[in-house]
Amino acid sequence: LPNSADLKPYNFAVAGHEGTLCDPDGELFIKPCTQQEINFYETAYEDHKSFAELMPVYIGTLSLNDATDMESLNEQLPAAASHISQGMKEEALRLAKENAAEAVAEAAKKAAAIRDHVTWHPNKTRKIATNKSVVLENTAYGYVCPNILDAKLGRRLWADDAPLEKRRRFDEISKATTNGSHGFRIAGMRVYKGSEDPAELDADGYKVYDKDYGRLQVNQDNVVDEMRKFIFNRLAGVDDDIGRAVAEAFLHDLRRVEEVLAGEESRMYSASLLFTFEGDGDALRAAIEQTPSSAASSVSEQGKKEKAGVVAVADVKMLGYGAEGDFFAQADMGQEDDEEDDDDEDMTPMPHIWSLKLIDFAHAEWVPGQGPDENVLLGVRSLIKIFEELSQ
Ligand code: ADP
Ligand code: MN
Repeated sequence: LPNSADLKPYNFAVAGHEGTLCDPDGELFIKPCTQQEINFYETAYEDHKSFAELMPVYIGTLSLNDATDMESLNEQLPAAASHISQGMKEEALRLAKENAAEAVAEAAKKAAAIRDHVTWHPNKTRKIATNKSVVLENTAYGYVCPNILDAKLGRRLWADDAPLEKRRRFDEISKATTNGSHGFRIAGMRVYKGSEDPAELDADGYKVYDKDYGRLQVNQDNVVDEMRKFIFNRLAGVDDDIGRAVAEAFLHDLRRVEEVLAGEESRMYSASLLFTFEGDGDALRAAIEQTPSSAASSVSEQGKKEKAGVVAVADVKMLGYGAEGDFFAQADMGQEDDEEDDDDEDMTPMPHIWSLKLIDFAHAEWVPGQGPDENVLLGVRSLIKIFEELSQ
């Protein structure tokens, strides 16, 4: 079991508030959040299963007396983490301590249900105290060098309950950025070996684009080229062929996001699409090669045939999400449980290639009777156009 004194700050957040954490293994992402966000996760899992598939796996909540009290965090979370890494129930029950125990028990039940191909229902009776954090799948887990981009969605960025001052401020931002022109803006991004100049890289070798980048440097004329910097990077061995394949994979997911959102009646303000893919070209090729797909291996052999790359990644996608999630990711909902898939004993996670997730539901709600969220769909459709271009 991991040492329980090692809960650490999460270093891969590309945008948003301070105070995100992860467990020592890095499988979990813990974010202080509002009750509204918890409600949205829980109701998505209950009543909007296709939508929930677009979200990071929701493990549960943690209640902390003081979100900055590292000692109390250290007591609670690594236990949850070790538990999820290994296989489950007894450990959770041992942690009969406050709300952490409930989050752990939930995680255990969920992991067990997924393993057994049973639909998991979040525990609705959970008592929720103040200072809540949401415990999610860490979407950057399982990558050697994850490239990450947070695309903040919407032309309108404020919810109905926002005060006038905030509406004005956000409207100004929207007008001045691609939120206005495209319905999304890059809120943050990190690219492994994203610069030739070592001075521009952080200690881990990433070029980090902060929130000012998407506000001041990206505009409607250069947005496609700026997105290109996220996907294509010869410095890290992500050449044109494989980059196009990655773009095609994101395109596939974006179309699914559009389809699901068009079929739901929801409203989200300042939510994001979180793009993640393997930013190390060698690891990316290896990950594709390692997926049990003849098309996937054929593309890595003859990376020059871009169509093959497209097929390969689309193919990977069809393979029960082996390449994208770890053992619990996405396996539980809506998917047809494939009984032929008899490799359940082997829990070795596949190396990850890419993922696309909707995140940040602090201002999200269901609006039955009011139709789809055209404000967010505008951004999704712009991204589809851009990724069509990038995958050419
Ligand atoms: P905020 O309300 O502070 O904006 P977000 O939910 O947008 O919070 O998260 C902030 C940042 O944290 C995101 O830009 C992303 O980089 C990272 N992040 C969010 N959710 C996850 C997750 N499940 N796994 C990994 N990173 C995440
Ligand atoms: Mn955010």
